[in-house]
Amino acid sequence: MAATDEDQPDEAFFCSNIAWGAQTLSIRVPQTWTILETKKYLSMRTNVEESRVKLLGLKTIEGNKAAVDSTRLQDCKTGGKIMMMGKPQAEIDQEIPPDELPLLEDDLKWSPESVGVSEAPENLEKIRSRIQTYKCKEINPPRPGKRALVLDVDYTFFDCGSPTETPKDLARPHLNDFLRRAYRDYDIIIWSATSMRWIEAKLIELEMFTHPDYRITMLMDYHAMITVALPDKGVVKVKPLAVLWALYPEFYSPKNTIMFDDLQRNFVMNPQTGLRIRAYTIKKKSTDRELLLLKDYLVQLAQNEPDFTTLDHSKWRSYMQLDE
Ligand code: MG
Repeated sequence: MAATDEDQPDEAFFCSNIAWGAQTLSIRVPQTWTILETKKYLSMRTNVEESRVKLLGLKTIEGNKAAVDSTRLQDCKTGGKIMMMGKPQAEIDQEIPPDELPLLEDDLKWSPESVGVSEAPENLEKIRSRIQTYKCKEINPPRPGKRALVLDVDYTFFDCGSPTETPKDLARPHLNDFLRRAYRDYDIIIWSATSMRWIEAKLIELEMFTHPDYRITMLMDYHAMITVALPDKGVVKVKPLAVLWALYPEFYSPKNTIMFDDLQRNFVMNPQTGLRIRAYTIKKKSTDRELLLLKDYLVQLAQNEPDFTTLDHSKWRSYMQLDE
């Protein structure tokens, strides 16, 4: 009779539950497999193209480093949270890549004021309920006198959709330089439309919690968002900064807050505070200077602008005398 898995001792297998979006994949694969072999196997199970499968949370026993394709599972730590990134091809085919969206797609036909979204009583009621129930995840205490920089994650400073070996390669160029300088004047608040678990996993991979030159102040996830109805777009989830301002009134307000996001609609409840950043994908890696330029913009604001409500961030490039 042919040998089966069942004949092998359990120690020969790497067993884990891998979070993939809303699903959990239970795996039991040979300890001798490399990460690359594991990715191939996960690719078969999920229809995610192999090069797009990314595993977060796998660290080596020796040195506590992020596992790479040639690392064997037997050399990885067990017991931590493992997460898989990657979308099936069918889903990708239906999406417009973020870098092909017109820059001002949402701007042309209407403004939040003209359609009454930011004043609508039902939307304000949703914000009130978030304020009562939501808790930001504080990593470091807010600092008196600092402004607030609220940053989206996906496509703002992290390309969540492209194939690479390690998630660290997906960080936008100049990210650490940008955060290091911004931190002098701004508390750094990360707000992503995913779950806290995903936000933490990405920031751990990017080593943003342990960087010696800046601290992350707090994290906000999709639970702090609200749904609103927009012309042409239907019902979408957006990021109302009023939640942050109500939870930390002694630190943050419309006067000292700026939010970067690649999706304009995310600041429809506070359009004056948002700056739409060009979506980043690693195809632009060699030429992308967005964070370098925005670092200078933040410094200018911190030095010269006591009240951000007087600004129009859609004109930041001309303010910085850039013609790109
Ligand atoms: Mg984004």
